[in-house]
Amino acid sequence: MKRVDALRDQLDAAGCDALLVTSLTNIRYLTGFTGSAGLLLVRPDELIFATDGRYKFQSADQFAESGVDARIEVGPVDVQQRALVAAVAGTGRLGLESTNVTWARQRSFASEWFPDMELIPTVGLVEQLRRVKDTEELALMARAAGVADEALARVKAMLLELPTEAEFGLALDFEMRRLGATSPSFETIVASGPNGAKPHARPSDRRIQPGELIVLDFGALVGGYCSDMTRTVCVGEPGSSTLVRMVEVVTEAQRAGVAAVREGATGVEIDRACRELIADAGWADAFLHSTGHGVGLDIHEAPWVGPTSSDTLESGHVVTVEPGVYLPEHGGVRIEDSVVVTADGCYPLTHTPKDLILA
Ligand code: ZN
Ligand code: ZN
Repeated sequence: MKRVDALRDQLDAAGCDALLVTSLTNIRYLTGFTGSAGLLLVRPDELIFATDGRYKFQSADQFAESGVDARIEVGPVDVQQRALVAAVAGTGRLGLESTNVTWARQRSFASEWFPDMELIPTVGLVEQLRRVKDTEELALMARAAGVADEALARVKAMLLELPTEAEFGLALDFEMRRLGATSPSFETIVASGPNGAKPHARPSDRRIQPGELIVLDFGALVGGYCSDMTRTVCVGEPGSSTLVRMVEVVTEAQRAGVAAVREGATGVEIDRACRELIADAGWADAFLHSTGHGVGLDIHEAPWVGPTSSDTLESGHVVTVEPGVYLPEHGGVRIEDSVVVTADGCYPLTHTPKDLILA
């Protein structure tokens, strides 16, 4: 109940007497429930969870497993509605998760479910708690990252046979599943040659060629937690001195970014540490995205590491550092580690060596 209690401590400052949690990721974080439908009402003295018949037994099991004490109401939507409306009767201000509730749903809550209540749009109350990972979460994240490391180690040699991007992506995904991942944590990126200049290219039927750069950005999902890592590799020697230089600059920028990560550092500072080195090399305009992001139950979550971030890092945050340089006529380079923030620095969850050349 520690997480629910921490959330309860936030309610008053957020201007509400109770909070209706609609984000399934947030519900999972608070209760351990992994189903696809449910509403969690957090009151100061009571927790009510409403779901449908598909999750009758699963919800009871998962709440018990997490040690979360809640009244569980199971039935069709009208039954759930009646239970939740009765549970908030007499409460003045009900918070909703404004970044999760759709316009249509807000209208239905306001006019049909809770017409007598003041609905308060809250922002990021649970997400704020999710930033700092506890020991159990860090263990799952280390396992997810370990699965991805091991999967790449096992299939890497296949690149020497010059497969298509899609073939290699599938091999990587299959190996992560075999090693215990629920699924990839996002759509695996295998971007070779010119495709590498598109930071989020999808694996295509393009056949990988010797001498070109191959951007591999992928992760595993384990116990609900995501891993995220990028490596850039090349079959044989890179085909031009520009490619070599791109890799050198990004490697150096990534190292500088990781070196800047510590409790108290801001997202802006870490971004600047990477961006300055890339700008010094003359490629300021070729670094097309932010330096990094938080990672956890979601592949992209707070805190943010970029030029417009308003976040300051704390011990227990997990962030990525992933500068890149993208030149359409040459290809792309990105190198990414996920690191755990500590009082005086950070340590990586992703351990695959950064060797460029496969031979
Ligand atoms: Zn990534
Ligand atoms: Zn990332």
